[in-house]
Amino acid sequence: MSGPPTPRAGVHRIADLSGARILVTNDDGIHAPGLKTLEAVARTLSDDIWVVAPEQEQSGAGHSLTLSRPLRVRHLSERRHAVTGTPTDCVLLAVHHLLKDRKPDILLSGVNRGGNLGEDVTYSGTIAAAMEGTLMGLPSIALSQCCSGDHPVKWHTAEDHAPALIRRLAAIGWPHGVLMNVNVPDRVAASVAGTRVVVQGQRAGGVSIIEQQDPRGRPICWIGDFASHHPLEENTDLWAVAHGYISVTPLHLDLTHQATCGPLAQALAD
Ligand code: MN
Repeated sequence: MSGPPTPRAGVHRIADLSGARILVTNDDGIHAPGLKTLEAVARTLSDDIWVVAPEQEQSGAGHSLTLSRPLRVRHLSERRHAVTGTPTDCVLLAVHHLLKDRKPDILLSGVNRGGNLGEDVTYSGTIAAAMEGTLMGLPSIALSQCCSGDHPVKWHTAEDHAPALIRRLAAIGWPHGVLMNVNVPDRVAASVAGTRVVVQGQRAGGVSIIEQQDPRGRPICWIGDFASHHPLEENTDLWAVAHGYISVTPLHLDLTHQATCGPLAQALAD
């Protein structure tokens, strides 16, 4: 007979989230619809929800810290705060300042407007907030809702599917130093094909740089969309969401490429 799995040392595992203190943050800012979605998701899991999110949109901020100016915290209510900084700043202030008397049990970041797939994970403030949580020893999950420009974002898909998935992930557990990157496909909730554990993919395309003129005729540039031509390498995050699956990718904070270490050490010793 098999009982519940025994938690191993160095593994995050929360069998029951109902009493958990949940920290919610994002990179789209305190007013973002995806943050409201994630708050609604969190409230289905626990009553102890704390929101600490950037005052302004921080998409593309990556894992940056604000070191050259002070941060202001705006208290919107007892458990809702906006910070004039990055997602990483928000997590640091939340854990070491606002919630220092009782730290969160789990961190949820998102729901981001748009997927965080392939190389996106290196730019994403949504993922970076989950990285910061992971560095602090908190189980952390980044959530993103895939969308495209020609119709409204299907926030209900994330709202419908995220509670059960978060409960299952927390109960199964995952190793310290690892975060969960969850992407919800651009489909209505009833049409989601299922959940797939997949690896980080690679976008085949490049980035578009859009050159324009400012009102005084001087050239300016915008960084535009990142192209993704053939996201069909199977069992990647890009493949999964393109086929209607929710992708779950465990990401590791240790960026070392182990396979290169041995041969490189040997070559350098020669
Ligand atoms: Mn964003």
